[in-house]
Amino acid sequence: MLRVRRRGINGRMIVGVHPLAGFDKLLHYRVPEALRADTAVGSLVRVPVRRQFALGLVGEIGAPRDFPLEKRKSVAQLVYDFPALTPDLLELARWMAAYYAAPLDGVIEAMLPAAVRKAARLREEKLLALARRPAAAELAVLEKRAPQQAKLVAFLAAQPHAQPKSAALARLGLTAAVVTALVKRGLVREEARRVERTAYADDFAAGELVATRPHALNAEQQAASDALGASLAQKKFGVTLLHGVTGSGKTEVYLRAIDTALRDGGGVMFLVPEVALTPQTVARLRGRLEAIAPGHQVVVWHSHLSDGERMDGWHALATGTARVVVGARSAVFAPVRDLRLVVVDEEHEPAYKQDETPRYHGRDTAVMRAKLAGAHCLLGSATPSLESFANARAGKYALLRLTKRVDDRQLPHIGVVDMRIEVMRARGATALSRTLADAMRDRFEKKEQTILFINRRGYSRSLQCRKCGEAVECAHCSVAMTYHRTDETLRCHLCGDARPAPARCPKCAAPDIRWQGLGTQRVEEAVRRVLPRARIERMDSDTMAKKNRFREVLSEFRAGKVDVLVGTQMIGKGLDFPNVTLVGLVDADLSLHVPDFRANERTFQLLVQVAGRAGRGDRAGEVVVQTFTPQAGAVQFSRHADYDGFATEELEVRRRFGYPPNRHLIHHLFRGPNPEKLKFFSEQWARLVEKELGARVELRGPAPSPVEKIKDEYRWQLWYFTAGVTKVIADLARLRAAFVWPDDITQVLDVDPANLV
Ligand code: ADP
Ligand code: ZN
Repeated sequence: MLRVRRRGINGRMIVGVHPLAGFDKLLHYRVPEALRADTAVGSLVRVPVRRQFALGLVGEIGAPRDFPLEKRKSVAQLVYDFPALTPDLLELARWMAAYYAAPLDGVIEAMLPAAVRKAARLREEKLLALARRPAAAELAVLEKRAPQQAKLVAFLAAQPHAQPKSAALARLGLTAAVVTALVKRGLVREEARRVERTAYADDFAAGELVATRPHALNAEQQAASDALGASLAQKKFGVTLLHGVTGSGKTEVYLRAIDTALRDGGGVMFLVPEVALTPQTVARLRGRLEAIAPGHQVVVWHSHLSDGERMDGWHALATGTARVVVGARSAVFAPVRDLRLVVVDEEHEPAYKQDETPRYHGRDTAVMRAKLAGAHCLLGSATPSLESFANARAGKYALLRLTKRVDDRQLPHIGVVDMRIEVMRARGATALSRTLADAMRDRFEKKEQTILFINRRGYSRSLQCRKCGEAVECAHCSVAMTYHRTDETLRCHLCGDARPAPARCPKCAAPDIRWQGLGTQRVEEAVRRVLPRARIERMDSDTMAKKNRFREVLSEFRAGKVDVLVGTQMIGKGLDFPNVTLVGLVDADLSLHVPDFRANERTFQLLVQVAGRAGRGDRAGEVVVQTFTPQAGAVQFSRHADYDGFATEELEVRRRFGYPPNRHLIHHLFRGPNPEKLKFFSEQWARLVEKELGARVELRGPAPSPVEKIKDEYRWQLWYFTAGVTKVIADLARLRAAFVWPDDITQVLDVDPANLV
């Protein structure tokens, strides 16, 4: 790009600004004299746009050579006197825009919290400090004539830092007049400081922090820590995948690495899936991190923060007051300075993918952020995503393993119950098998606790035979076919292949093929029949909606007041209940026959994670998995927690069908009110793409979406399989501009979608 000298022509300073005003352009402005010193790439400014003022981000300093200097408008305001986005974040924004097919202004907006864009006012607090040390004689006079002033001086002289004014006065029983007098004497100075509110402060009960003392590492943890220390010492980009079985003490390894990075003066980012960001996790991390880095407060970043809290955290990081952020997906954009380490816990979690624009993947974005900042990225999981595992196998990531649980606790025994037999025995649908019911009764008598998981990813629109377990798959795509009730067909929503829905199982001819899943409520009722005297609590999206109820139930469960907890798998994330000795998974199949090539992977992950909740205390744990498909690889490998066995088999299937990690998938959705028109234009478009990009992209579809119609809008979709995303995204943008789309058809591109349904 052609640029003029940094300071512009004839002493003028010109900047290129990305206005955050709903269009994607770089506009150039002059910078008034007064703002020049603090204006830099990444500065947040207010600029005139079409007779109005808009926020904008300085994207470059300088202007094209042929730039007409005289008629330019000027920057109106510099919102903060430090860059709102660091150079690496701006670079990340550009990468995201190109990779995820998102307009740059939208990406920048996503990076800057709304509170920051609104420049929400911070709460301010007055601080007191000594302005100078009084001479001995002066002090003696003061003690005699103004003992109250002397008291405050003595107090402040004994403190290493400035002290909050109101607290100091309250403590010493003094009035503000004393301060005024001392300020006049030039002995005390008042300062204003932004007060950083502490999110989850209410969970800072002392008891929660006790459990966070460092453990002496076991041999495996030590080896992993040493390896990470060596990587961090290199002070350059690299990625490590930490594969540690559930309960192997991964957190302790993260904490040691964080310790190293902080002691070395670096900044740290710790990402967890939103659902795992419980007060318990936060308290635990914070307790440890604040011990490691006293004075460097930890900023918590999640979706329930108030504007003020968000603003405070952002400000503390951007100015370097805080060097650690703990948060969910969007914390990857936190303005951590001198980033040295990025930790992504539960890196396999689909929750890291954002399902609205910009549709970025938090883990992949974290890796890119680390790359641009020259930091180390540590991905951790008990069940790594096959994408990350393939990178480790290919030598792109370092691989570290924790193969044993801490304190030699045993991995729980996983029993698989064949529900086909149970259904026969019970002569009809049944929620709880005899094995599971017996095990529950046994725990109840021993006063031990049970968790029953219902499969949240259940997708009742695929068919499965209750007699033989058969589920109908597409011959071309190796995903379950979807049942469409309107025209009684089975369809593959990847390639569009369709056939009439069978009334009987194609394999065993049983009439029981149209089987649907169970809700939490029905399972709860079944549990009541088995254990009429037990206290049972249910946790699903209804109960989860009430935030406090969720916490209450968990603390009651922890206190042993609840015998059986029934809920979706999300309740178990990151929680440690030592008295839980039985975990049941009611319906393993629901995630197995989802029309998604990741169905096996998700089921394996679910089984391993669910099993990981059992036997965390001193007693051994037991896991009962109910399934109509006991022979499935995901079920069998999970019984022995054989991740490598599973990954090897599954990667082979992925290779055969050209699925990720071999290639990337891009989802192109078309929406519109008129189904014929939608079909026509999708097909025309697909033909064009095939003709122009056929050498680089493999197309599947177009076909109706698995959910064909939402709110009177019909949906069609097209899939692109490709090895090079950025190039294809640019090509598609070029073709889209040249193709005349009707106004009533909306399109959405989703790169690397986490879920296919
Ligand atoms: P993971 O994330 O791998 O499932 P955690 O990090 O949650 O495991 O650790 C499981 C439990 O083991 C926690 O209660 C943790 O405090 C404890 N722990 C971790 N390391 C050790 C150790 N070296 N010795 C004893 N207990 C440990
Ligand atoms: Zn297909």
